[in-house]
Amino acid sequence: MHKTLCPECMQMTEYDVVERPDTFEVRGEQITVDARVAVCRTCGEDIGLGELDDATFRAAYAIYRARHDLLSPEQIKAIRTKYGLGQKAFARLLGWGDVTLARYESGSLQSASHDQALRLAEDPDTVRKLMERNASRLSPTQLAELRSHLDQLSADQEGILAREDASSYETGPSADDGYSELRQRIASLRDTADYRTEEAIDLVTETMAKQMQALGLGRSELATRMGVSPAQVTNLLRGSNNFTVRTLSEIAMALECDLVIDLVPHEDRPE
Ligand SMILES: [Zn+2]
Repeated sequence: MHKTLCPECMQMTEYDVVERPDTFEVRGEQITVDARVAVCRTCGEDIGLGELDDATFRAAYAIYRARHDLLSPEQIKAIRTKYGLGQKAFARLLGWGDVTLARYESGSLQSASHDQALRLAEDPDTVRKLMERNASRLSPTQLAELRSHLDQLSADQEGILAREDASSYETGPSADDGYSELRQRIASLRDTADYRTEEAIDLVTETMAKQMQALGLGRSELATRMGVSPAQVTNLLRGSNNFTVRTLSEIAMALECDLVIDLVPHEDRPE
């Protein structure tokens, strides 16, 4: 039997793993899953065990993904690796924060608008246009890698078209038409509240993780401070919750911080 530190009674203790239904708020929806939870044999409280919580959230997010037809972490990874880019580079290409894609691939839930952007990026033509537009966001090595993957993909595509009946294939819009259409689609995604919410959630979860690290505070300890289960803290850190102002205030207090909310006019916003 493995032992672990119980944050409630502060002892190295044995624990039982029990299965019970647990309900989480995921993007404003209540989702109930059969969660496996470690329970301290000494004091009877829940102990947050990373691997058990991960499995619980994978199950909860899978239900949400199925309801809303969202890409799975595996599908997201497959789209990225198709272009030979790392998580950070691909996120930059899409104009996202450095850790956004890493979060998604490790199981966090993407917003509907980021999901749409990823589906657009399934098409190598989209990625080629993004590359031309955002070349400065990538290193020369990353650019070279991306170019060679794109060339390979279009060579494969031409092979497929040649084998089918090439004469029946209608050529798409010209590169220019395609680009302005794409720019419009991406711009319209960026203008949705959903997209902005996702950016704000990224900021909250990154700031939270940073402050937890600065205080040397684990998930279980933060949960105790906030009076919630460790699994709920995991849910918050994964950014699957639309943080209410109340939740933000509670997090700030538990992390010994003041919450500052600001409205910055567009023209002052850094690019
Ligand atoms: Zn205990």
